[in-house]
Amino acid sequence: MDDCLFCGIIEGKIKGDIVYRNDNVVAFKDVSPKAPVHILIVPRKHIATLLDATVEDHKLIGEVFGVANRLAEEHGIAKSGFRVAVNCGAGAGQSVFHLHFHLLGGRAFSWPPG
Ligand code: AMP
Repeated sequence: MDDCLFCGIIEGKIKGDIVYRNDNVVAFKDVSPKAPVHILIVPRKHIATLLDATVEDHKLIGEVFGVANRLAEEHGIAKSGFRVAVNCGAGAGQSVFHLHFHLLGGRAFSWPPG
């Protein structure tokens, strides 16, 4: 999608600190990290929010969690614990309307989140 920031990063038109890519998913470091490890795992397919994902997207979303596990291992946060979070809609804090999964680790997290 032309005016989408994350599509721009995925397509290489906008600079991103990419740490992983395959045919379906791209992962890059969050520009404003909220933890020592803060990576965004982003389906290449433009899906605006989690609510817009269809049954056909469920396999893709499952793949995202496999990538999260792999990146957690690679970035040294698998054993200490990590969080995968999705903000769905502005009310939940979503600011970029291309579905993405936050992989956060390297510090202690409280629950419930703020
Ligand atoms: P959310 O608020 O859940 O939509 O998350 C959007 C995330 O994208 C935020 O954590 C931002 O810090 C991050 N972000 C915004 N612009 C960029 C960018 N150009 N490169 C990497 N991350 C970004």
